[in-house]
Amino acid sequence: MNRPKMNPPQAGGKMKLPVGPNAPGGYLMDVSSGMRVFRPVIDQEKCVHCLRCFLVCPDGTIDKSGEQLEIDYDYCKGCGICAHECKVKAIEMIMEGDA
Ligand code: SF4
Ligand code: SF4
Repeated sequence: MNRPKMNPPQAGGKMKLPVGPNAPGGYLMDVSSGMRVFRPVIDQEKCVHCLRCFLVCPDGTIDKSGEQLEIDYDYCKGCGICAHECKVKAIEMIMEGDA
């Protein structure tokens, strides 16, 4: 995963969390799939392993450590950026419940 580690608690026990839209992505503290309406599904036959989706996923939920890319559906919020940015259209957004 390209998900960065949480910052350790700061003095006073407060977590140093990113604020605003310019904060680095991937600071997910808990499962966030509940908001998802569509889920991205990778067609491994079409995928050319360019890793563009891995780079653009704001939540770092695409795992490139194996032979094939895998999406961590516990944390994917279904934003569709990966599918939009995939130049070979290897990612399809499928309605939850249909997949
Ligand atoms: S952007 Fe598309 S082709 Fe590139 S790694 Fe992701 S799924 Fe594969
Ligand atoms: S739909 Fe959004 S959160 Fe889910 S893998 Fe694609 S870019 Fe990441």
